[in-house]
Amino acid sequence: MGVQVMKAPKTMNQPPATPPIEPMLRVLSAEPSSGELRGALAADPPLAPTDEVLAELARESERLETATPQEILRYAIDRFAPRFTMATAFGPEGMTLIHMLAEIGPKTPIFNLETGYQFAETLELRETVKSRYGIEIEFKKPATTVEQYEAMHGGPVYKTDPNRCCFDRKLTVLHEAARGMHAWASAIRRDQSNDRARAAIVGWDHKFQLVKISPLANWTKQQVWKMISDEDIPYNPLQDKGYTSIGCWPCTRAVGMGEDERAGRWSGFEKKECGLHTS
Ligand code: SF4
Repeated sequence: MGVQVMKAPKTMNQPPATPPIEPMLRVLSAEPSSGELRGALAADPPLAPTDEVLAELARESERLETATPQEILRYAIDRFAPRFTMATAFGPEGMTLIHMLAEIGPKTPIFNLETGYQFAETLELRETVKSRYGIEIEFKKPATTVEQYEAMHGGPVYKTDPNRCCFDRKLTVLHEAARGMHAWASAIRRDQSNDRARAAIVGWDHKFQLVKISPLANWTKQQVWKMISDEDIPYNPLQDKGYTSIGCWPCTRAVGMGEDERAGRWSGFEKKECGLHTS
């Protein structure tokens, strides 16, 4: 005898299932509390910024000042894999590092902070990377969808408080992604901004509590684009339309001749960084 499946009666005019506001608020306020272990402190085995570790990082950073990005990535993999990860927004620098990692460390877990506000062209690069390199980049997403988030705040938060929006949709997500890792690579260049000018090649990232490695710190924009051109590395087509630095679509515009590379980010606000690379 077959099993009879009882179908739930259809209810008409039911609103779409939306999580109640209360639990969403609790998730959004999930900034790591002082009692919660972050980054490498939560790893197994943990890595803590002891005097010995900090001395080692300073020594390695100095030694790698004249190294190539590939040599720096090799060091990172030898020292920290499998607890070495990379975050990418699919910018030209990130695509260059992905190209290098495809050869040096294709098993390195790479992730993208998918805020829900990225350009379609940016999201498409995830597929391009997969087909070109066989590397699957993981989207790390905030606890709420854009629709839920905007409903909670009575509209788009990026219009009124972009720091809050970046915190909720990027920083909180990176905290989560970094937990249990020992080190992460970022694709920043020192010549991009005053904040970034102070980046070490290897150093302790106090904000996220793990080692931060910046293999392209000493590279220039020209070096990045030369490699993209020489190696036919895929890149965001918006770059060819004047978008020299690409983040979320509401906070990115094309730049004009003579404007700073990052002038199109949070245009109209004092804000210059999302907070991932500031101490
Ligand atoms: Fe929000 Fe803009 Fe930050 Fe994206 S870049 S998280 S839209 S404020």
